[in-house]
Amino acid sequence: MVKQATSLSVVIPVYNELGNLSLLHQRVSDVMSSMNIEYEIVYVDDGSTDGSFPLLEQLAATDLHVKVVGLSRNFGQTAALAAGVAHSSGEILILLDADLQNDPADIPRLLARLEEGYDLVSGWRRRRRGDGWLRCLLSRLANLLVSRIAGIAIHDLGCTLKVYRRAVFAHVPLYGEMHRLLAAYAALAGARIAEVEVTHHPRYAGRSHYGLSRTLKVLLDLLILKFYRSFATRPQQLLGLPGLLALALGMAFLPLALVLPLLARRPRVGSWSGPVLLGGAGCCCFSLLSLQLSVLAEMLMRTYHESQNKRPYVVRCLVSGAERCECW
Ligand code: UDP
Ligand code: MG
Repeated sequence: MVKQATSLSVVIPVYNELGNLSLLHQRVSDVMSSMNIEYEIVYVDDGSTDGSFPLLEQLAATDLHVKVVGLSRNFGQTAALAAGVAHSSGEILILLDADLQNDPADIPRLLARLEEGYDLVSGWRRRRRGDGWLRCLLSRLANLLVSRIAGIAIHDLGCTLKVYRRAVFAHVPLYGEMHRLLAAYAALAGARIAEVEVTHHPRYAGRSHYGLSRTLKVLLDLLILKFYRSFATRPQQLLGLPGLLALALGMAFLPLALVLPLLARRPRVGSWSGPVLLGGAGCCCFSLLSLQLSVLAEMLMRTYHESQNKRPYVVRCLVSGAERCECW
């Protein structure tokens, strides 16, 4: 149970989930009202074409806890979650899928863990149902990679059922398909993260919106995560160092190509001077491009930070005398 008086927002992205919505709403409402805490349920209709939106309108008309955000077309799950977060007002956010694979009955346990002093509590679908063995295996591998790259011990980043303190979203980007890596980005910003085992069911109605290709996309997102973790504030080093190395190689190869025919009069050694010359020229070209790109990347990074007044750090609290101010 959440001890302090606080308000909760449940954010649920909905894309063609007509068959799930009535039961979902009933289950979420039952759990939320049983906790005696001020709450709202924000449904984000992500351009559904199956009549989900009119049903959500009906729910909003009959239940004052319901807010519906209707997007103009299908923008994808991450964008839908971003819209839900932007239109919610609770201090604590609960993110949940609409297909009843996650069980709303787990919400109080996640909230209780959050109250132990965490910024984010992530659901762990230890026993996944209805997702197929290949999908589970790929997801397990991806989770291993992500937790290594982000440096967090989390088993199941892909589980949407998570609870967050609102401050987390001030430091976490929500672009593309980043919802799967939300916890990893939060960890990079310094969020305190815990994990709680949750129940997982097969989809109640309808079909998953994703295929196996999603895992490949996660791998691409990981590349950005790695970049974000290691080079976000110093991209010049990523491209500049290989550029310098190639320059050194090129500078060594070029004179070698000239002296090789003179040093060794044997035709077999002399014939190496062509490939060495080519290699040297290639290295020089590569280094020129890398160094130019590294300067561009550095300028982009500075524009990114300075134009949006972004800081390369996150302050958790400020202490002055006996006063302590929690910033997130
Ligand atoms: N979803 C969405 N926009 C999309 C795809 C999915 O809002 O473009 C919602 C969907 O309605 C569901 C959640 O995102 O509430 C998770 O989708 P799904 O169950 O298909 O994903 P899976 O559980 O297979 O990973
Ligand atoms: Mg699902």
